[in-house]
Amino acid sequence: MKVLVLNTGSSSVKYQLFKMPEELVLCSGTIERIGDTEARIRHNSSKCSVDKPLTIPTHKFALKYIVGLLLDKDKGEVQSIEEIEAVGHRVVHGGHTFKSTVEITSEVKSKIKELFTLAPLHNPSNLEGINVAESIFKKAKQAAIFDTSFHQTIPLKAYKYAIPNEFLDNHHIRLFGFHGTSHKYVSQKAIDYLDNKKAKIISIHLGNGCSISAIRNGESKDHSLGFSPFNGLIMGTRSGDIDHTLIFYLVNTLNYELDEVKSILQSKSGMLGLTGFNDLRDIIAEAKRGNKKCKLALEMNAYRIKKYIGSYVAAMNGLDCIIFTAGIGENSKLIREMVCSEMDIFGIELDEEKNNKSKSGILEINKNNSKVKILVIPTNEELEIARQTFDLFK
Ligand code: AMP
Repeated sequence: MKVLVLNTGSSSVKYQLFKMPEELVLCSGTIERIGDTEARIRHNSSKCSVDKPLTIPTHKFALKYIVGLLLDKDKGEVQSIEEIEAVGHRVVHGGHTFKSTVEITSEVKSKIKELFTLAPLHNPSNLEGINVAESIFKKAKQAAIFDTSFHQTIPLKAYKYAIPNEFLDNHHIRLFGFHGTSHKYVSQKAIDYLDNKKAKIISIHLGNGCSISAIRNGESKDHSLGFSPFNGLIMGTRSGDIDHTLIFYLVNTLNYELDEVKSILQSKSGMLGLTGFNDLRDIIAEAKRGNKKCKLALEMNAYRIKKYIGSYVAAMNGLDCIIFTAGIGENSKLIREMVCSEMDIFGIELDEEKNNKSKSGILEINKNNSKVKILVIPTNEELEIARQTFDLFK
């Protein structure tokens, strides 16, 4: 079965075409900056490689362009559109409704729409991707894979907020957790690597969005992102944990409009708000040049992660393994070093030499005598989505 995986963001589409169950990647690519004058396509397959600027006004246009590449007589991977039997869509927020991967129906789409207010940066574009894919891949089955599903095993004492009961009972206000496909994928890899199904794992996903999960027996037990994907760690543009009374103060005393506060906390805070830069590579380069704001932001970032590690060690009464994953976790030796420094109280001891190595696959970066294994594991959300789509329709 050929399964197309789509991850549709507000201005981008990431895609991979898999042959399942062989898990063979036939092609992959990204279209970025949709609607911008600087839109760009990057496409890779065994037959061709494309990297060029393009005018791409809409998501529909983007997907049609991708289909054109897939169907290309000489360089394409399929001869007819019907060869793609299933499309798996990443959907960020599944609320309390979606506990696992589902086939997309009109009812499913309405529920995803109802959740727009909880994931305003993600769910609208995810649904746009679904609508466009349905109009193009008319015969394919479509599946929604939710970032929140993996966290359905978090116990009540951890997902319930200490606010009046009616908010959970009547309005389902609770911690949901996100980046579930990534945490599931890398923790399963770690379990196989350790050969220990019961391992106590802390999985740290550090990309544009950042989150940390406590995982035991292969199940999520606690998570830093909460009701929506804004809580917890310091992210590219999101503040992570703050005292919520700050919002009242900004509105009631400093006279900000509520929408302005939302935009400040979601799009102008985090590493961007602290430094003026969004990309961690720029921040590290600036810090090396002596930029004090960048240095401090890196320290704050690592400090927040360390605090979560400490609390999850307490929550699980122990720790076997830490995983670093996603763009920053997989690539930034400095952040890994900063997070793991002075953590020997927990049996976490990083080996600097191993941390400086690069390797495809799993990289173990702890000292030989470290009680806790520290693993760098490349995430592969697309493969996890393809697996779940295939399992649903096979
Ligand atoms: P992701 O959301 O997983 O694609 O991660 C994107 C983030 O990874 C970007 O914001 C970059 O800051 C970060 N990143 C990628 N490569 C590196 C690197 N070599 N060093 C530090 N950060 C990196």
